[in-house]
Amino acid sequence: MTVRKSSYRSLAALERDLSRCRACLEAGYPLESLPVRVPGSGQRAYLFGQAPGVVEGEERLPWRGRAGRTLRGWLELEEDVFYATFYCASVTRCYPGRAPSGRGDRTPTSREQELCSFWREWELELLRPRLIVTVGGLALRWLLGLPSLTTCVGERYELDGTPVVPLPHPSGASGWLNDPANRERLAAGTDLVKRELARLR
Ligand code: SF4
Repeated sequence: MTVRKSSYRSLAALERDLSRCRACLEAGYPLESLPVRVPGSGQRAYLFGQAPGVVEGEERLPWRGRAGRTLRGWLELEEDVFYATFYCASVTRCYPGRAPSGRGDRTPTSREQELCSFWREWELELLRPRLIVTVGGLALRWLLGLPSLTTCVGERYELDGTPVVPLPHPSGASGWLNDPANRERLAAGTDLVKRELARLR
C-alpha cells in the first residue's frame, strides 16, 4: 500500500516510500511496472522526463533504452557519469503500458500526473539541485508551465533561482528533429546544459 508522509527529512526516506508507490493503481489506472528511479547519490542536477518506457520498467532504471543512449550522446556523457550527474525523475514514474491505439506508449492521464507530482515536489525540496534539465514538452509544462517546447529549446529559464534548460524528447517517435531549425535549437540547448554542468564541476 502506498505510503506518503506529511513531511520528509531525507531523500533516502522519500525514496523508500516512492519505490513502493502504487497510488495510480489504487486509483484504478493500469500500470505495467513498479516505480523507476536512480537512487540519490549526491547528484547536483535534476533530469525531468515524461514517463519510463518498457525497458526502463523492466530494469527499474531510467533512460536504459534507445532514447537514453541518444540523450547521453547529445550531452556527450558516458553512462556512469550520466547517472552520477543527474538525479533522474519524470512526470510519472511507472511504465504506463502501450497506448490503446497500439502506437507508442500510453500518455499518463492528468490524474496520474497529479498523483506523481507529490514525489517531484519533495525531491526538489530535499535535493535542492543546482541545475534542472527538462526532457520533452510534458515535463516542461509541468515544471515551468510553458506550453510550447519549440520556442523554449535553446533558452535558459529559472525556477526559484535554479537554472532550467529544456531539451526535446530523444525518442525516435518524435519528428521534431526533422526540421533543421529544431536541430539548431537542440544544439543550442545541449550547449547550455554542457556549460551549466561545467559550472557545477
Ligand atoms: S506513476 Fe507515480 S504516483 Fe503513479 S504509482 Fe507510479 S510512482 Fe506512484
